Amino acid sequence: MGAGDIAVIGAGMSGMAAALVLARRGRRVVLVEKKARIGATLRGFTRGGVYFDTGLHYVGGLHEEGALFRYFRLLGLERLPLEMFDADCFDRLRFTGAGLEVPLPVGRAETVRVLSSIFPGDAAFIRKYFTRISEIFNSSPLLSFRTDAPELFADVESTMSLADYLAGGAADPVLRAALSIHSLLYGVSPEETPLHQHARIAASYLEGVGSVRGGGRALVAELEKALAGAGVKVLCGSAAEKLLVSPGRRIDAVLLEDGTEIPVEGALFTGHPRLLPPLLPEGSVKPAFRKRLLALEDTCSAYALFCKCEPVPSLVRGGNLFICPDADITSAFRPDCDPRQGPFYVSGGGDAEADRRGLVIVAPGNARECAPYAASAPGGRPAAYARLKTERLLDIRRQCQSHCPELSGISVLDGATPLTFRDYLESPGCGLYGAKHSLSQFNPLPLTGIANLWMAGQSVIAPGILGAIVSAVAACIFILGREAVREELSACA
Ligand SMILES: Cc1cc2nc3c(=O)[nH]c(=O)nc-3n(C[C@H](O)[C@H](O)[C@H](O)COP(=O)(O)OP(=O)(O)OC[C@H]3O[C@@H](n4cnc5c(N)ncnc54)[C@H](O)[C@@H]3O)c2cc1C
Repeated sequence: MGAGDIAVIGAGMSGMAAALVLARRGRRVVLVEKKARIGATLRGFTRGGVYFDTGLHYVGGLHEEGALFRYFRLLGLERLPLEMFDADCFDRLRFTGAGLEVPLPVGRAETVRVLSSIFPGDAAFIRKYFTRISEIFNSSPLLSFRTDAPELFADVESTMSLADYLAGGAADPVLRAALSIHSLLYGVSPEETPLHQHARIAASYLEGVGSVRGGGRALVAELEKALAGAGVKVLCGSAAEKLLVSPGRRIDAVLLEDGTEIPVEGALFTGHPRLLPPLLPEGSVKPAFRKRLLALEDTCSAYALFCKCEPVPSLVRGGNLFICPDADITSAFRPDCDPRQGPFYVSGGGDAEADRRGLVIVAPGNARECAPYAASAPGGRPAAYARLKTERLLDIRRQCQSHCPELSGISVLDGATPLTFRDYLESPGCGLYGAKHSLSQFNPLPLTGIANLWMAGQSVIAPGILGAIVSAVAACIFILGREAVREELSACA
């Protein structure tokens, strides 16, 4: 390819990571973002003087050998200040129906020890499960940094669901729920999630669990500096509206909503995949590809409560709480779920008191009950929607407090519904984490059928901060060539 601009469309974690990898490798990059500022998902917001994180509550792999730590180094973020979560209990799972509290500690051996002491009858399976998910994680070259692997981008998919794997070995239903709890972090039910996909996410939480000190806004601030340092041109506030395709089926230019036309050598689209087909002229990609993108189903949605609580209860200081009234957590993933039934995820963050970070409670979101108001936009929602929202937020607060009296001191400063997330995240089906990676659908890969158009983002490969970065690196393998990326990865392995 020549040395013209590559347009990276969408400045979320994935687009920013791709722009940095390409620019640090000498490519001219223009990063185009529809929202007024880059990193909208991660930036969070402030209400009443309290900062709330949105797209980054916690991550794994922040230790020296960890995948995310190495990717931060690859992006030039080695000085990012980190805060580690409580090594004895970074996640606390409260099963109120079963009267059981399960702390998840950092470290595979320690996790096996703690879970085996709570579920002694399943001790052999617990060992087998953690060995298996670690094997799967380590067999993925882009997660283990095994750059000697013949194919950097060769992952095996299982045809077995997480639920089937657990049903085949774990006798205790509470243990099955505990081992599936991280499916709430990617929004797909254990019945639908391939075991491999779950392993690539859940195993990342075995070591180096924490966040960025100062939250998502601190991460975005560092990314902004790195993008400027790498010479990436950033254009915000105007969406890519059309990709202009030559008769030779190559992208020649990106046309923005404000009429600006950017001539390009190629384009990388990182938004929700359902948003790509409308940008492409009819006939430029195979009809089956277009249809497949448009039919992608989203991950589950949510209601969220943004709360102030002083002092922050000790059970969410330095870690998270999952309140599970029922050991069967699968109802949370149904489109017609009852948000009041939970499970509820409570993020207190690391040093919440130090930087006045608020508590975030995430409850299952029923996008169907918001459907009558789908035509409305923020600032112009009807009164009936406002009533539904208030009722739901109060219901969820009441439920959380009844299952967890430690939360009795919270006051709700703001809230979000599935429609809020649809508009805030540019997620057409209200999904929290883009298109779902499930056994029943085939998500896009970086190649599109147009030689100089690629895809990345949480719906390609995997969601989360790590998944979004891995998808960006996978796309860069196709843009820059495998050897160039192999060199980059080796340098930070
Ligand atoms: C409430 C919440 C909490 C989360 N917590 C965690 C967590 O604790 N840990 C973790 O690892 N992950 C977490 N995640 C997930 C993580 O934030 C995401 O997986 C990740 O940020 C997705 O990055 P992305 O770049 O793929 O997508 P996005 O952030 O959605 O970026 C895509 C961008 O493309 C832009 N765009 C779309 N179309 C166009 C267009 N035509 N022109 C220009 N721009 C366009 C959009 O505006 C958007 O900014 C959380 C997510 C949510 C919603």
